[in-house]
Amino acid sequence: MIFRMAKIYAFRLWGLWLMLGGMGLMILGLLGVVLQWGLAGRIMAAIFMLLGGLVMMGSMAVYFWAGMLSNQSYQLECPECGRTTKMLGKSDRCMFCRTRITLDRKLATEFPESPTDDHQN
Ligand SMILES: [Zn+2]
Repeated sequence: MIFRMAKIYAFRLWGLWLMLGGMGLMILGLLGVVLQWGLAGRIMAAIFMLLGGLVMMGSMAVYFWAGMLSNQSYQLECPECGRTTKMLGKSDRCMFCRTRITLDRKLATEFPESPTDDHQN
């Protein structure tokens, strides 16, 4: 499913999942304190807080990266649905109808035959 999205959307989705994962880890760590597991609970909380913090920093890096990438992308009108979409690299998918679009003529003639192509709707 993720591979059928426009790249910018996929990056943002990963960022979101990482953020949720980091928050989940922190909450899990707090359980050790809340349930009063003593020293072990506190150590566990510290470790999970650290892990959660790292994961959340990772998610921010992904968001930042996605932001940079979207600055490098260019806008074009989708040939299928006619809406303006953003494109990353030489080939990407339309943000709205998820049609594969490419700037490379060589790729464009090859992709309609590929089994992963999904624009015969
Ligand atoms: Zn489209």
